[in-house]
Amino acid sequence: MPEEADVVVIGGGIAGLITARELGRGSLRVLVLEARDRLGGRVWTDHRMGRDLEIGGTWLHWVQPHVWAEITRYGLAVTRGPRPEEAYWLAGDDLRRGTLESFMDLIDPGMRRLLAGTMRWIPRPDDPLSAPDLAEVDRFSVQDKLDELGLSEEEYRANEAAWVGHFNAPLQEGAFTGALRWTAATAGSWHLMHEASAVFRLTHGTRSLVSAIVADTRAEIRTSTEVRRIEHTAEGAVVTTAGGERISARRIVVTLPQNIIGDLDVSPPLCAEKRAASQEKTASQGVKAWIRVRGPIKPFFAYSSADHPLSVVRTEYLGDDDAVLVAFGADARRISPDDREAVAAALRVWRDDLEVLEVTGHDWMADPHSRETWLMQRPNQLTRYHRAQQRPEGVLHFASSDHANVWAGFIDGAIESGLRVARELTTELGASR
Ligand SMILES: Cc1cc2nc3c(=O)[nH]c(=O)nc-3n(C[C@H](O)[C@H](O)[C@H](O)COP(=O)(O)OP(=O)(O)OC[C@H]3O[C@@H](n4cnc5c(N)ncnc54)[C@H](O)[C@@H]3O)c2cc1C
Repeated sequence: MPEEADVVVIGGGIAGLITARELGRGSLRVLVLEARDRLGGRVWTDHRMGRDLEIGGTWLHWVQPHVWAEITRYGLAVTRGPRPEEAYWLAGDDLRRGTLESFMDLIDPGMRRLLAGTMRWIPRPDDPLSAPDLAEVDRFSVQDKLDELGLSEEEYRANEAAWVGHFNAPLQEGAFTGALRWTAATAGSWHLMHEASAVFRLTHGTRSLVSAIVADTRAEIRTSTEVRRIEHTAEGAVVTTAGGERISARRIVVTLPQNIIGDLDVSPPLCAEKRAASQEKTASQGVKAWIRVRGPIKPFFAYSSADHPLSVVRTEYLGDDDAVLVAFGADARRISPDDREAVAAALRVWRDDLEVLEVTGHDWMADPHSRETWLMQRPNQLTRYHRAQQRPEGVLHFASSDHANVWAGFIDGAIESGLRVARELTTELGASR
């Protein structure tokens, strides 16, 4: 006989842990099955280079309502990296040097023009499909829209690099609506959007958030337990793990990222839209690299262009005799974050005076439990798949940052989706608190 639970949550990332915490408050038996030997999923604080580094998700902000509520609830400390004192960017083959403010002034006209229609197309970011004619703009890539602006070479490259930093993808593959959704979430201000996505982080790492949620849950959590198969009927479902255990439940919550959910053996199969989105893949396919250099240095920020393996780099930690930089590139196949020579060569585009001591990162694209970084959709995916990705299928429910409404692709979105699914299930199962 299979083991029994009321709800099985597949995945112990933020979406799964939030769902389990909320559902576990009543009398339900809730079981979380996590494939990896650690919790957190795409948030992962790991001790490397003598510091606790965020290998995955990092930055958060008070304009992100769900994550900020968790920060308030658990009293988590928030900090920021050093303020950049210098900025570097490219104009053709020339290297420009200035302040962060001068770089922001350079990209401001392009950003404003690109994003002018934000509130027209995404009037309610909490309901991203509320514009009835959204499909008209969802077919464009962010590259299509940048190309229409007729920017000078210097402005174009600078804007492009800034968007690669946000999209973690080649810009011709990223949906323009992704840029609109991020900006709509900050009421049309690209400056605030930029700050919300790249400045403030948890002082004790995302690990402190994960630990606080886990300490606050009555659900049972099992790591190193990969789910391979789900068989479901109108009455319930049975999941089978890689180790051959079978667990039956009244409801299942699936929290797998878009790029791997289609690989799960589900009988009867998931709807065509969920499978199509998974097969098409997200646009995001990039790399995040940590680089330790000899110090002391002045904190700096640098942008190149989409053609470079690393498009954005900046100082995140300053030591007495070293500094740690964080960098992003559009395509994980073009550079390995563990290849010191390649990373040092990419850095020389801006700085040939820095001595690279160590590099590290994680190949999220090759990781079988994610195969993506943070969600950025391809053109048409929002209008074609968003609603279907959220929609329950019989006893199966779906939570993931990848199909959150407001801050999809962020830690905030994972919490939003976990809360939504927990509410759906609490209503359905009549759980008492
Ligand atoms: C490099 C990088 C940088 C990022 N930067 C930021 C940032 O600065 N700010 C921000 O807000 N967000 C950022 N993000 C995004 C953010 O981390 C994610 O959107 C969020 O953590 C996703 O949470 P989730 O629970 O929806 O998915 P996941 O964290 O992917 O959770 C899914 C879980 O399911 C597990 N799983 C998969 N398959 C199975 C299976 N078959 N059986 C059992 N378990 C399974 C996985 O191991 C994982 O734990 C970043 C992400 C990456 C990768």
